Amino acid sequence: MSSERLRRLLAAGEVLFREGERGDEAYVIESGRVEIYTGESTTRRVVACLGRDDLFGEMALVGDQRRSASAVALEPTALITVTHGYLEERLQAAEPLLRHLLRVAIGRSRDSLRGAGLATPRAGTESDPDGLEARSAALQRLRIEQALAGALEPSPAGSEFELQLQPILRLHDGRPAGFEALIRWQRADGTRVSPGEFIPIAEQSALIVPLGHWIIRSACAALAGLDRAYPEHELFMSLNLSIRQFGDPQLLPVLSEAMQTHAIAPQRLRLEITESMLAHDTEGALHLLRHCKSLGAKLSVDDFGTGYSSLSYLQRFPVDSIKLDRSFIAEIEASVAAQKIVGAVSRLASELGVETIAEGIETPAQAALCRELGVDYGQGFLYARPLAAAELPDFLARPAQVF
Ligand code: C2E
Ligand code: CA
Ligand code: CA
Repeated sequence: MSSERLRRLLAAGEVLFREGERGDEAYVIESGRVEIYTGESTTRRVVACLGRDDLFGEMALVGDQRRSASAVALEPTALITVTHGYLEERLQAAEPLLRHLLRVAIGRSRDSLRGAGLATPRAGTESDPDGLEARSAALQRLRIEQALAGALEPSPAGSEFELQLQPILRLHDGRPAGFEALIRWQRADGTRVSPGEFIPIAEQSALIVPLGHWIIRSACAALAGLDRAYPEHELFMSLNLSIRQFGDPQLLPVLSEAMQTHAIAPQRLRLEITESMLAHDTEGALHLLRHCKSLGAKLSVDDFGTGYSSLSYLQRFPVDSIKLDRSFIAEIEASVAAQKIVGAVSRLASELGVETIAEGIETPAQAALCRELGVDYGQGFLYARPLAAAELPDFLARPAQVF
């Protein structure tokens, strides 16, 4: 997968491809300059001189695999490669109507490119700001996806990913009950990319599958480490699952293997899935969730209250806990309606034997209200931000505090 989208480095003067050759890749220029030309020596004619963010060679992606011009680097140049296979994979992943429209548009573009010889329509010019914005968003996505693929390859420099653990506390006695594993990515050049940015990109490509395996294994390893250091706490570990992982045949084997390797009792793992995942693929979700349950792991509905018809899920899915979305907690001091909703949900949940967790608790008043309204657990910046492994001892040594 990753080898399909490797970064390509060219020396000054290096020819990337020649007119008439077959090819099935297009390129985006990361840095440097590339000259596109036809003919050789006396007949040589420069067609274009391209720089950062320019796309070229795209005819190869839309079917005509003979290069109609040559490409040479004018200076040391870095490229992102986009293969025909990659484009097909993305088209397959698109919604059917969109896929159809894209195929028609690609076909027409191919015809007009042929008709016009070499003229490459360049989306996004100064006079087309919308196109410019769409192009830079698409390129940013492509860069992140390509860097993610690279980061998932084994590297002697170690992993660029880290799991941070955010504590989840019992509201009635203020003691830690478990942690939520939250992924962090620090790229080799030191830049941090937030999970809110790269998880959706990983989800839209197949990269969430190997990334998901890494998360499962690392979360189990982290829990085993906590067991060794703090055998007196029976902590649980919550980890986030993505919708695309529902289609991963390796998900259950990886989960059970990781639990075995690290001697983790399955009921100490909580798999967080969002409400929207349940609504999106109800049958698939039900199937997979039953399997996860059969392994003995617990299920938690994340971002509860942000989707539709929330309460019906409690009855339809084999759910063990729900995480009340941060938006309710943020409103709880000012809004009587938010208090009533939180109170009603926690009562109903407790009658159904489902535990409740309030997310995003930032103030002592929010914590006190959640506790009074019967919520079982709290998580949020009031207690702790997501913590790196080195910060855990200090946190676990802190005296319990009930708000
Ligand atoms: P989420 O699962 O709802 O995670 C909770 C997010 O809220 C985390 O952001 C956490 O740092 C933040 N948060 C916790 N307490 C507070 C608080 O008191 N106030 C505020 N304002 N925020 C708080 P983060 O780590 O940036 O993660 C964002 C989202 O990225 C997650 O939302 C989850 O959807 C996704 N994500 C993070 N890690 C993973 C992962 O390992 N796997 C998958 N599939 N998704 C992940
Ligand atoms: Ca979560
Ligand atoms: Ca959440």
